[in-house]
Amino acid sequence: MIDPFGRTITYLRLSVTDRCDLRCVYCMPEHMEFLPKSDVLSLEELLRLSGAFITLGVKKIRLTGGEPLVRRDVMTLIRALGQRIGAGQLDEVTLTTNGTQLGRFARDLAEAGVRRINVSMDSLNPTVFAQVTRGGDLGLVMDGIDKALAAGIAVKINTVALKGVNEGECHALVAWCGDRGVDLCFIETMPLGEVDDRLDRYLPLSEVRESLSKRWTLVDSSYTTGGPARYALVKETGARVGFITPMTHNFCEGCNRVRVTCTGTLFMCLGQEDAVDLRQPLRASEQDDLVRGAILEAIAHKPKGHDFLIDRDHQGPSVTRTMSMTGG
Ligand code: SAM
Ligand code: SF4
Repeated sequence: MIDPFGRTITYLRLSVTDRCDLRCVYCMPEHMEFLPKSDVLSLEELLRLSGAFITLGVKKIRLTGGEPLVRRDVMTLIRALGQRIGAGQLDEVTLTTNGTQLGRFARDLAEAGVRRINVSMDSLNPTVFAQVTRGGDLGLVMDGIDKALAAGIAVKINTVALKGVNEGECHALVAWCGDRGVDLCFIETMPLGEVDDRLDRYLPLSEVRESLSKRWTLVDSSYTTGGPARYALVKETGARVGFITPMTHNFCEGCNRVRVTCTGTLFMCLGQEDAVDLRQPLRASEQDDLVRGAILEAIAHKPKGHDFLIDRDHQGPSVTRTMSMTGG
């Protein structure tokens, strides 16, 4: 799959549910309305859809959500995808998780062939963590991270930088991750969906980096996971720190991915409204020709990039759906 700008699409981010056991302030409103279950693809349909993408050249699948580990029987899907790695059809199956269920799932994930995961953790302070997630238990997440590491899964921590909330913690986070030998990636808040305080909370990562470089020796690194993060090696800890800067630096030129929601809507770009329904062609035929055709048609219209903006004149969302709907 090659898009109009010559980018080869090899990476699928698949949302398996829009539901979540947390309510992070930058991600969703407190009283989020979730989709009726009947709109959501079954696990069998998600697997079939993944298979269609694999035959079209996708080599890496990241499960996301909402919280992927709250989807009932999600291990069935993860195991089936893991078998595709064994069969040489996929290079990697991974997931982005809030970590609350990781303690229960770590061993199963490792056994299914998951080698690395991203865990979102925005604070090392239990009170701040509970505020950001509207009630989350930091201890549970940290225990989940320990269990994942013990099971042999590499962990990367994702932290959304939030002005006045966790900006004072960037050094502590670098140290905490360094102690455990895990990479840390800071993310700028993106204007997705209607949430409170976006302008007040937006913190450019240039400021985080500047602050970090006063205490740590950051050596620019060409390391990449194929994603938009730019990494530096922290000399003192030997771990990496990454910066995902959709707001201050447009990262679209190397984009190799598309996103599918749990209802089977294919979004060609996180920051644009362009979308194609795959559920209808998936359900219309037991063969995959229709759905494969719809995917190829969509890739032929993948936009060049997003145009996120947060300032006094642009306080609303660039797109109306939240990150939990598209899958982060
Ligand atoms: N629930 C899982 C989790 O939190 O890791 C997976 C889904 S979540 C939507 C994926 C990632 O998106 C998380 O790291 C979260 O912090 C990030 N995220 C959510 N809303 C965001 C926003 N408006 N701007 C930037 N990152 C956001
Ligand atoms: Fe849930 Fe992840 Fe969104 Fe937080 S960022 S509310 S954990 S989906």
